[in-house]
Amino acid sequence: MHWLKGGKGFAYPDYKPRWQPDPPFTVEHVSATVTVDLEHRSISGTSAITLQVARPADTIVLHAADMEIQSVKLDGKSAEYSYDGSTIKIRLPEHRPGSTARIEVEYRATPTRGVWFVPIDSDAPARAAWTQGEAEDNRYWLPGYDYPDRKATLELAIRAPTGLFVDANGLLVDKRELGGLTEWRFRLDERIPLYLAAFVVGDFEVYEDEWRGVKLRYIVPRGRGGLVERSFSKTPRIMEFFSNYLSTPFPYPKYDQVAVEEFIFGGMENASITILTDLTLHDETAHREYRSEPLVAHEMAHQWFGDLVTCKDWSHIWLNEGFATLLEALWAREDLGEEEFQHNLYRKLQTYLSEASRYTRPIVERRYRHPQELFDAHSYPKAALVLWTIANTVGEENFRKALRLYLAEKRGQSADTEDLKRSLEEASHMDLDRLFDEYVYSAGHPVIEYSYKWDDKSKTLTVTARQTQGDDQPKPFHIEVELLAVGEGYTETAKLRFDAETAVAALHLPSKPLAACLDPHFRVLAQLKPKLPPGELASALKHCPTLYAKEVALTALAESKGATAAKAAAELLSTAGHWGLRADAARALARIHGPTAKKALLDALKSEKDARVRTAIAEALGSFPDDEAVWNALTEILHNPQEGYFTRAAAVVSLARTKYPRAAEEARKALSYPSHADAIARSALKALAIAAGDEARSTLEEYTSPAHSYLLRAAATAALGYLKPDQKLLDRLAQLARSRHPRVKGAVISAASTLLDERLLPVLQELQRDPETYRAARDTAERIRKHAEKGEEYRKLREEIEKLRAESRELYEKVEIMEKRLP
Ligand SMILES: [Zn+2]
Repeated sequence: MHWLKGGKGFAYPDYKPRWQPDPPFTVEHVSATVTVDLEHRSISGTSAITLQVARPADTIVLHAADMEIQSVKLDGKSAEYSYDGSTIKIRLPEHRPGSTARIEVEYRATPTRGVWFVPIDSDAPARAAWTQGEAEDNRYWLPGYDYPDRKATLELAIRAPTGLFVDANGLLVDKRELGGLTEWRFRLDERIPLYLAAFVVGDFEVYEDEWRGVKLRYIVPRGRGGLVERSFSKTPRIMEFFSNYLSTPFPYPKYDQVAVEEFIFGGMENASITILTDLTLHDETAHREYRSEPLVAHEMAHQWFGDLVTCKDWSHIWLNEGFATLLEALWAREDLGEEEFQHNLYRKLQTYLSEASRYTRPIVERRYRHPQELFDAHSYPKAALVLWTIANTVGEENFRKALRLYLAEKRGQSADTEDLKRSLEEASHMDLDRLFDEYVYSAGHPVIEYSYKWDDKSKTLTVTARQTQGDDQPKPFHIEVELLAVGEGYTETAKLRFDAETAVAALHLPSKPLAACLDPHFRVLAQLKPKLPPGELASALKHCPTLYAKEVALTALAESKGATAAKAAAELLSTAGHWGLRADAARALARIHGPTAKKALLDALKSEKDARVRTAIAEALGSFPDDEAVWNALTEILHNPQEGYFTRAAAVVSLARTKYPRAAEEARKALSYPSHADAIARSALKALAIAAGDEARSTLEEYTSPAHSYLLRAAATAALGYLKPDQKLLDRLAQLARSRHPRVKGAVISAASTLLDERLLPVLQELQRDPETYRAARDTAERIRKHAEKGEEYRKLREEIEKLRAESRELYEKVEIMEKRLP
């Protein structure tokens, strides 16, 4: 399909398209009993899977990873089967289409994935356990059919030491004592895919709430109850908002949010029981800069998009993640208003653009090695922005109607991108083929460069816009973008329609406008690049009425640099009403640089109250080295307990970046400052490495030891990247790469990407074995190879030059000799 564009940089040459198996059965019900042995970090159980045979078949294939299979029964009788460590193949005699088969697997396992025992990096008895199934890891503790296109009802009985708390999907239907163990039996009558099955075991505090008959619980590790309110109190309001927005009430009889220690992600939307990182629990000081609501909203939105309706296979994962990410932003609009919403969308755009500078791929993508690779900025922020573009194309009311249709039609089932498209077309009476081909099935995004000219005689503003994205992307994207002209006492709007690469609009206006802004409300995913002189950009920054239009002008100004840019950004920093704009003004000033920018940042510290903006300022000051005023300001922030945790964390790194002579000393002090998630200490480790280099080695190495929290260990590991890569350091990194915690492994990759040392290639090869670290490890190895090649090229070039020099010296000498010979 030549009109679809694949983008570049994502799929490695050895990648092949992936389709999931289409087994000859549907799964009706899964009933399992699992005993959790915290002491030995192992499990044992039986899983009974009821299938309905759909097509003639003589074999059933189920997933069971790294297990010891003790027995397999088919309809109550011993079955003929084989097991290869990843799948169980069961012979199926005489089952006609339409008949049911009940397969019972008895097993034991010491899981390295799927179930995680806390603390993760230890062989000692665990104090808690939790599961993480997505993408394909529940097969490490629960044999069954583990792809998202088969959904079943679930009954899970978990046996755990008496006295501990247990939770799982659905309602608790029975609880009984079994001599030292307690069995907790849960049942969920709605169909879910296997990857959404979950349990937790541990010592927890439970807080109850309620929304229209749905039982809500906030469950946190014992001793952390005081933090529940700040993180979870908006849960019923968010549930009310989503239920209304989607015209579909919350789909499950209960909704638990369980905060667990050492969680490997932010949160996981297991049906009716979301598991989250305990790092979301925070105190009053952290609350000035951090909120739990985006995470709470995101995971709850998944209960509709992902759980009630599941993506049919991983290539359609945007149907889960795009909606969860968009709904999280829509909740921000509901709760905090339009400007917060636009700022939220703008941040999402930046996150996507930063990934797009490394690779672009279609949102629906079949070329991957591990499904985890698709959980990237294309599936989250870009997909959310594409959904928002679609919503604005069909109209938000039609969009909502389409979502209601989609959820009603696919309830309890799996769906793909075409299912969503059909609902949107039905609700809007529009044909969306081209929109989906360009934004969903093709890679990339429109890059729109625009400028305007004013003709005073005819009082006409002519706006010329051109799409300049690469040819590996659709060109043009057929879109319509709003144009807003703001002048003395008037505003005028027009439409710019792209039927070709260039679009032109002419507006007759009362007088020369003060500014013209494109897509001022952020309705279309595009990268807007005004090609205007700094004076015009400064005027746009001042007169464009929306937050997004100001951000666009600010980004362009930061590129233009110079005094006009500095003055305009400085004014924005001191006057903008929205914190996000002020924070972005600080970031822009760091790029613009120069004395005006520095003074503006230092001045702003005197009056700025918002901790989030102060953090951006502290970070920005890191770009102004060797300046006493900057050093004083940063030192004051670092040691002031009235400042936010993240502000102080930013200050310590900036002190090192600005080459403050006593930065290492200050960083050592900061190691002991208490803060949320050890934010200050983690940054202090980085600062120490930058400032002291090899002299910090023993401290950093000490912090990588298991005596410290996984967060500090990961920070210290990443900081090793700033030291001299001698054999001892490389050995230490190789050893840390064998940690069980994905955060520590990720930190090894981060250190490798700073060091770019070829001798780390075997370690990166090793790290490609885990789905979580596979992609980052491979990308980093690739970068190291390129870096080495470049080094090789430079070396050859240097040799060439040396040779030339030697030759020319020789020549010169010869000439000299010849000259001497001349009379
Ligand atoms: Zn998600």
